[in-house]
Amino acid sequence: MPQAKATSRIFLGALAALLCAPVLAATTVVTADRMLDVLAGRMVDKPAVVVVDGRIRAVLAQGDAAIPKDAGRIDLSGQTLLPGLVDMHVHLASDATIDGYRELDYTDAFWVAVGVANARAMLEAGFTTVRNVGSRGYADVGIKQAVDAGYVPGPRIVPATYALGSTGGHCDGTEGLPPSFAPVATPSVADGPEGFRKLVRTVHKYGAEVIKICATGGVLSRTDAPGAQQMSFEEIKAAVDEAHRLGLKVAAHAHGLSGINDCLRAGCDTIEHASLANEESFALAKAHGAWFSMDIYDDDYILAEGRKNGMFEESLAKERAIGLKQRQTFRAAYAAGVKMIFGTDNGGVFPAGQNALQFATMVQWGMPPLEAIRAATRNAAQALGREGDVGAIEVGRYGDFVAVQGDPLQDVRLLEHPTAVIKGGERVK
Ligand SMILES: [Zn+2]
Repeated sequence: MPQAKATSRIFLGALAALLCAPVLAATTVVTADRMLDVLAGRMVDKPAVVVVDGRIRAVLAQGDAAIPKDAGRIDLSGQTLLPGLVDMHVHLASDATIDGYRELDYTDAFWVAVGVANARAMLEAGFTTVRNVGSRGYADVGIKQAVDAGYVPGPRIVPATYALGSTGGHCDGTEGLPPSFAPVATPSVADGPEGFRKLVRTVHKYGAEVIKICATGGVLSRTDAPGAQQMSFEEIKAAVDEAHRLGLKVAAHAHGLSGINDCLRAGCDTIEHASLANEESFALAKAHGAWFSMDIYDDDYILAEGRKNGMFEESLAKERAIGLKQRQTFRAAYAAGVKMIFGTDNGGVFPAGQNALQFATMVQWGMPPLEAIRAATRNAAQALGREGDVGAIEVGRYGDFVAVQGDPLQDVRLLEHPTAVIKGGERVK
């Protein structure tokens, strides 16, 4: 009997292979004039990338005999192909044009609908993967599920769910409201190491794939100071240890120096904003292998549009005090050799889909175009721990691409106007 069983299993296996392989395998060949190999740091002429069932099967030269003849074709002649971009700091379920108390005009589910629109805008802007570092009500998990199931278009989403922080801190959802308005139980606020341990476990239970903590004050919250530390070292450490035990990385919102340095000592994987970091922070980041995710474009938008959007006067004053300093820190951190990823705060701070505006700011403040592009591809994939999936045009990774007209290493602003976007081998723009 065991032999008969084994035989029938082999037969079924062969039958399944026969039925499935030729029928289900969707093969697409993407061709362009040039391709940016972000791993090698060079342009490749006349590439032909073969994508089978959503993943890259081969990276060939045009005319290669191994290119499948009967495959679908995406011909991007005259264009430059790059890996799909990754934004490591977005807020899908936010609207940058609705700030301050104006947010109270809307019911909770409104923000999920906003998130659906924002997901599409970011995808069509060439961002085929986004890390969503904070939204309420598990909106990002729901949007991710709807995108993955094909209900709505959107990038690959790495959800953090709630951003976790202390009572009255930057990520306390009812900060800025009187006591009688608050606190509805939300899994975003805790005090003490055990409290943070429990929050990490809770958001992980409900779909978080990365943990976001708020270690210092922020700009868009009304009542706190960006430089002020809002989680103790012990609280940060508890959150990090618990997250790492669960296999999750930790993104730490930190503007102020002591908060940044405690986050680095506690093992946070990415420092968001990093505005007031100094030489000691740079050394700690390098020693611990942490990444800086610095949203240095935002200052332009906040100072130009913030008041019109209803942003708190307090927030505008904080931005004026910290915006330029953050850009100077960015330049110094990059020069010191701190590893950088591309994170913008898009969706939350400036309109969804304008993510690529930050490339030019990064170049203006000292980063060569290739490194700015790597921050949004190769480096982002490393910081996510998903080098097998995204961040480069390489065999095995998803067939995610963005194309531009011209050479983005000469003019990084070309990324603001992608001519084509492909996700999993399917053209979405
Ligand atoms: Zn943010």
